[in-house]
Amino acid sequence: MRQTKEIRNIYCVGRNYRDHAKELRNDVPKEPLIFTKPTHAVTWMNGQTIQLPRMLGDLHYEAELVIAIGDAYTEGKKAEELISGFTLGLDLTLRDVQSQLKEKGLPWLPAKGFRHSALLCEFQSFQSVEALIQEHFILKMDTVLKQKGCIADMIFDLDRIVEYCGQHYGLGCGDIIYTGTPEGVGSIQDKAKLSLQWGTTELGTISINR
Ligand code: ZN
Repeated sequence: MRQTKEIRNIYCVGRNYRDHAKELRNDVPKEPLIFTKPTHAVTWMNGQTIQLPRMLGDLHYEAELVIAIGDAYTEGKKAEELISGFTLGLDLTLRDVQSQLKEKGLPWLPAKGFRHSALLCEFQSFQSVEALIQEHFILKMDTVLKQKGCIADMIFDLDRIVEYCGQHYGLGCGDIIYTGTPEGVGSIQDKAKLSLQWGTTELGTISINR
């Protein structure tokens, strides 16, 4: 999948790394916690600069492995058979807004679904799930390492995630899944430059003005 191909549903997994659930003082979930973002939230990390409103409070980065689905889920299908590409992305989160919504028991859309909240690097060709497990990913903000993760540490693995999404919501060609963020989330300062690395390879960068 390249930048030109249409993205259909955007699923995101919340609290999929134990140490991240802990740092936000959330319970470790017993089954996948899935939420969605509008496709209008997608912005490519192609070196551009974007503007986000400051008045909405703390803005957090969440670096995540993102998988692209190339085939329709049917019962018993494994992630390996369904994934057509992978990349890294940032699930941008208005953390103050999210805390208020959580307190009131309201949906997360205003905190997770705003314009530019789904940042994506260009999709890479997929070899195997094992190859993804063997590699780590890195987020740097202004060249300082902020997050380092490996999907081997996920609570729910890729097979469980595609099974859960497929069974509960449907999963098909063009859908993408943000698979959760490791520990180390934090605030994005004004004029920050964020870069995502797969192993030693930089997949994309973006600058954010607030
Ligand atoms: Zn996330």
